[in-house]
Amino acid sequence: MRSVVVIGAGASGTLLAARLLLHPASDGLLVHLIERRPKVGRGVAYSTGSEGHLLNVPALNMSAFPEDLDHFSGWLRSGPMPGARPETFAPRRLYGDYLEGVLEDAALASGGTLKRVRGEAVRLEVSEERVRVTLADGRRLHAARAVLALGNFPPRNPPLGDPFFHRSPRYVADAWAPGALEAVPSGAPVLLIGTSLTAIDVAIGLEERGHADRIYAVSRRGLVPNPYRPDVISPPYPRFISPRDPEAASILGLFRRVREESECAARRGRDWHGVVEALRPVVQGLWSSLPENERRRFLRHVQPYWEVHRHRIAPEVGERVRAMREEGRLVVMAGRVRACREAGDGVEVGLSLRRGGARTLRVGCVINCTAPETDPRRVRHPLVTGLLAGGLARPGPLALGLDCGEEGELLDARGRPSRRLYTIGPLRKGRLWETIAVPEIREQAARLADVLLREDPVQRSAARLLPGLRKGGG
Ligand SMILES: Cc1cc2nc3c(=O)[nH]c(=O)nc-3n(C[C@H](O)[C@H](O)[C@H](O)COP(=O)(O)OP(=O)(O)OC[C@H]3O[C@@H](n4cnc5c(N)ncnc54)[C@H](O)[C@@H]3O)c2cc1C
Repeated sequence: MRSVVVIGAGASGTLLAARLLLHPASDGLLVHLIERRPKVGRGVAYSTGSEGHLLNVPALNMSAFPEDLDHFSGWLRSGPMPGARPETFAPRRLYGDYLEGVLEDAALASGGTLKRVRGEAVRLEVSEERVRVTLADGRRLHAARAVLALGNFPPRNPPLGDPFFHRSPRYVADAWAPGALEAVPSGAPVLLIGTSLTAIDVAIGLEERGHADRIYAVSRRGLVPNPYRPDVISPPYPRFISPRDPEAASILGLFRRVREESECAARRGRDWHGVVEALRPVVQGLWSSLPENERRRFLRHVQPYWEVHRHRIAPEVGERVRAMREEGRLVVMAGRVRACREAGDGVEVGLSLRRGGARTLRVGCVINCTAPETDPRRVRHPLVTGLLAGGLARPGPLALGLDCGEEGELLDARGRPSRRLYTIGPLRKGRLWETIAVPEIREQAARLADVLLREDPVQRSAARLLPGLRKGGG
């Protein structure tokens, strides 16, 4: 029997499982989908119950199926959001419901079988004929191929002066851990370390929970994500750069080219939003053709600016953040935390500010809102640690994710491509850079399903797709 085991059922694993089941060659296929959380389709991003946590991508670009861009907005309209349009930014919790529905419908329409397995995969072994996955409770599964859809790892602890402070009950190491914000005192100021998407989400989440005091947020540059313009879907901006252009050989060249194009766009009545969108389809090509030292330079100097222009927030969220800042409920600072020290019933935080000088804050709690860890050697994940130790995988370029080939096939410690182990989504970051959001992940899922079922990769799996899919409700 043909069989694939998918480890992780966030958006990546769920989309891949659905594509496998909907594939024209799925008859007789067995798909095991392993997830340690109670529900599929949620992962880190879509587990939130907060109404104020909106998708940061319009509905059009969140469809599970690139060949039916209205699929998600249609689902919203026929159920939870009758007024939804392609440019709607829906609550993230609905997206989890949507993905779960997509998977259920795919399983119903398929000639293959889906087996959902609740548990944590801790070990992967590969033999000539198959892979064997061991779960934390000792169960074992076998399949012809395995796909790691492990997603985003928890962030690393930032240096806070006293290493023991990381163990303090007044420190939240991972804002996305289930129940992480429950112990945050609502009547005292809070410090968020980080000012990007996670910090914005946490600030909104705290307010919704009735947090009554000031929220401070600090990062080196104090940059906050830009909101989408209200006219979210404007005519596409023409492509203006290719990986073959001479400017694309260096970060400085690229930076200059983007700035010139933004000025040019402004003269034509457009702005940088369209220019950044036009980059999206070429980012993977630009990234992989840049020399390693240039990619390093990007990470060191440009990434924070890229993040706030590329990963924008919904206009409604932007408006909310603006009001919070204007009313002094959210204070964003550029600087560095020098020390955190428990003092009485709070924490004393020493900051050095980017524009010079120092500041001391007294807060009730410090929350780590820095970016997910990307270096697989630094994560506490038995499966990943075992793969690295056993030489079945190696870190990706610049230690971003795992090294893989064009179709996501893992490269072993000697750089040889695996025929049995693959990955999808954020773990491909070293190779692709642009690989963490649904528009890229859904493409990867469609292509990888073709590869795993050994079909012609160009021939897409639309055959079973649309008739079997229920819309709405969730
Ligand atoms: C807060 C937040 C908001 C976001 N908002 C958007 C958005 O609006 N639009 C967008 O396109 N992208 C958004 N993203 C980007 C996000 O990375 C992708 O949309 C997508 O959710 C990634 O899915 P994933 O399945 O790869 O990873 P994850 O969501 O991290 O899911 C991985 C899953 O694997 C499971 N898992 C890991 N290891 C094991 C194991 N050993 N055994 C069993 N299960 C395991 C985890 O429990 C988890 O459920 C957001 C990301 C975050 C963090």
